[in-house]
Amino acid sequence: MSRWMKVDHNINQYICDHLAPEHSVLQELHKKTSIMEGAGMQISHEQAQFMSVLLKSIRAKHTIEIGVYTGYSTLITALALPADGRIIACDISEEWTNIAKPYWTAAGVMDKIDLRLAPATETLSELIKSGSSGQFDFAFIDADKTGYDDYYELTLELLRPGGLIALDNCLWGGAVIDTDDQEVDTNAIRKLNDKLSQDRRVQAYLAPIGDGIYLATKL
Ligand code: SAH
Ligand code: CA
Repeated sequence: MSRWMKVDHNINQYICDHLAPEHSVLQELHKKTSIMEGAGMQISHEQAQFMSVLLKSIRAKHTIEIGVYTGYSTLITALALPADGRIIACDISEEWTNIAKPYWTAAGVMDKIDLRLAPATETLSELIKSGSSGQFDFAFIDADKTGYDDYYELTLELLRPGGLIALDNCLWGGAVIDTDDQEVDTNAIRKLNDKLSQDRRVQAYLAPIGDGIYLATKL
């Protein structure tokens, strides 16, 4: 089931008419993935453009991604980084991330991407143990929803003050306001949304873009 929020069709078209042209490799990767199982998991072209603006605004150089899938959001991030920028890309699926690699190579960003195939909590904990706390500018959280709270805590530790965390799917297709929906994932997202709104370590805003992106800047 698609989790995209329903935006008025004409307004959405107008927004799409005002997007910067999509990099040809991003276009090809989106097309390739659209017929795959789990295609609804990848961020939309609009979200990708929005992330690109954010990354360039904060001049992000050291970034983390949790949830790569076939590498579309990884690619938009890598393309927005300077030549010496890096993205630590966390996932557990070799099958899905293998699809990404030829596209990353074709776009000339392979050397910016450090793919770590392991449960993300392990990768993030290792980064903290090895002394990388406070070193990162940006983190994108888009993996298993029950893991979000752990990913948020660990990436918050890894971020510098002024760094930004973006959490995808925080409106969960509108399910967050459907009290009949008591699924584990829905409840996990609700609980974290409530926590973020009260969290004094960050300045946060739940933006109604795509399926809802919660943006949290570390204070
Ligand atoms: N950001 C991607 C979509 C990610 S889909 C895009 O926009 O294209 C979610 C991904 O999270 C899947 O690839 C899945 O393998 C991964 N995932 C699930 N559990 C995980 C875990 N514990 N650690 C790291 N990645 C995980
Ligand atoms: Ca997502």
